[in-house]
Amino acid sequence: MNNSKIKQINIASATKEFLAQPHKLLIDGVWVDGVEGKTIESRDPATNEVIAKVAIGGRQDIDKAVIAARNAFEGPWSKLTHFERAKLLSRLARLIESNTDLLTEIEVLDNGMPTNIARLTIHNIAEMCDYYAAAAQRIEGTTTTPPRHITDQAEALTYTLREPVGVAGLIVPWNVPASTAVLKLAPALAAGCTLVMKPSEETPLSALLLGQLCLEAGIPAGVVNIVNGFGSDVGEAIAQHHDVDKVSFTGSTQTGRKIICAATGNLKKVSLELGGKSPVIVMPDADLDLATVGVAMATFFLQGQNCMAGTRIFIHDSIHDELMERVKLFTEQMIIGHGINPATMIGPLISQKQWEKVQRYIEIGMSEGATLFSGGQKLEGEGHFVQPTIFTDCTPDMRIVREEIFGPVMTVQRFSTLDLDEIARMANDTIYGLSGSVWTQSLSTAHSLVARIRAGQVSINCHGAVGTNIPFGGYGQSGWGREFGQEGLDAYLETKAVTAQF
Ligand code: NAD
Repeated sequence: MNNSKIKQINIASATKEFLAQPHKLLIDGVWVDGVEGKTIESRDPATNEVIAKVAIGGRQDIDKAVIAARNAFEGPWSKLTHFERAKLLSRLARLIESNTDLLTEIEVLDNGMPTNIARLTIHNIAEMCDYYAAAAQRIEGTTTTPPRHITDQAEALTYTLREPVGVAGLIVPWNVPASTAVLKLAPALAAGCTLVMKPSEETPLSALLLGQLCLEAGIPAGVVNIVNGFGSDVGEAIAQHHDVDKVSFTGSTQTGRKIICAATGNLKKVSLELGGKSPVIVMPDADLDLATVGVAMATFFLQGQNCMAGTRIFIHDSIHDELMERVKLFTEQMIIGHGINPATMIGPLISQKQWEKVQRYIEIGMSEGATLFSGGQKLEGEGHFVQPTIFTDCTPDMRIVREEIFGPVMTVQRFSTLDLDEIARMANDTIYGLSGSVWTQSLSTAHSLVARIRAGQVSINCHGAVGTNIPFGGYGQSGWGREFGQEGLDAYLETKAVTAQF
């Protein structure tokens, strides 16, 4: 393994040791190679250097993992009380906390995100485990009135039970890998499910470390199974598998459609967290200092590789030019570099493929007649870096405005109306409906506009206000269902209604 660049970057010896160890599949509590013995290379997107060799599975490995998960579901795991499952999740939270530095560095090296963001996501995943540990203790049914045709004959009692949905297949993307993994794993375990997780082939590492921590926390063998591999193979096998009761998928809208089709065989339950093209609306009375940073970070946070990214910016005519000059100044001062460098604000894109896709969209923007206001120049050298790029004078029909680019490309449209219905129509002119934000100092404008926006999460004077306890998910083609909060747990529970006649 060539990790010469890794040696030059200042990373902890624990990280080097983790990278050097074998990276296998976790099936039935044991680390194993895939049946076909295949591996992939995991690369640091900032240097393109290989950082680890990782075993990948195929369909036969998914069969083995599902059998392990089914046996575990029907075994002693099903006898654990809510409180015992909560205790395991709390232990996992403490282990995540004590491994924060390691998880942070793995996430930075595997994904490219800046260290401060990676650290925050690791803090958040410990919080998620604690949150769902507490939520597990409150899983409760209700009592209700028995049906009349029963009570006409005899006394009766009707109540509901909340039961785990069964074996859950969890399919995870690469853009915030540890966070998305735990966002599925923690509520699934809290509910009493067992699981087979497939991390993204682009970022296979942090899930393996989490798997190790699950074992250390005492989560029984077979409850958590992790199979790295490709989507068209391992991912599809999970979505199709007749003994998987539920699939929870986060990824592109295009793949989401394939998941739905693959899941029809046994009509498994499906949760989808998909793409976005979120609006950011800046009204004439917005606080421009706040909006400057807000607009820039709405698009450029995580290099734009963020499902909530606010990539359609709408600015009122009266402030457009001044605000955009400020956004440009702020953007051009953002430090681009290796995520390990604490000063870095913009890391690399995940892969050469993603880099090429984003460069293509920059060319499309220019050919469509948008004004290249900032960035857009190809960055030479190693790593998949893209300059934060701003297009102004955009129109609603442009591809750069309509399609999810998933890179640091901002599109700006100006508007002159103050009619909130008209403004909302512009914002809602998209197939997506994941996120959005409104920037104004008027409470009534803010709330009136928020009420008109068709999206699962809308923020006022901030953007992407995601939190462990706050439900998150999409309207339109941004998804089915919600993650985070109580709704994130409900997604792994069935309700059984019981009537007893006596
Ligand atoms: P992707 O759809 O290419 O892949 C996501 C996962 O699905 C990966 O693990 C991949 O291997 C797997 N996969 C691919 N093809 C599959 C198939 N046919 N069957 C089963 N699994 C398959 O997405 P990506 O490029 O990894 O992630 C970027 C996308 O994810 C963006 O569209 C982004 O908006 C979206 N995303 C959404 C959210 C959200 O919460 N709504 C969060 C993060 C990312």
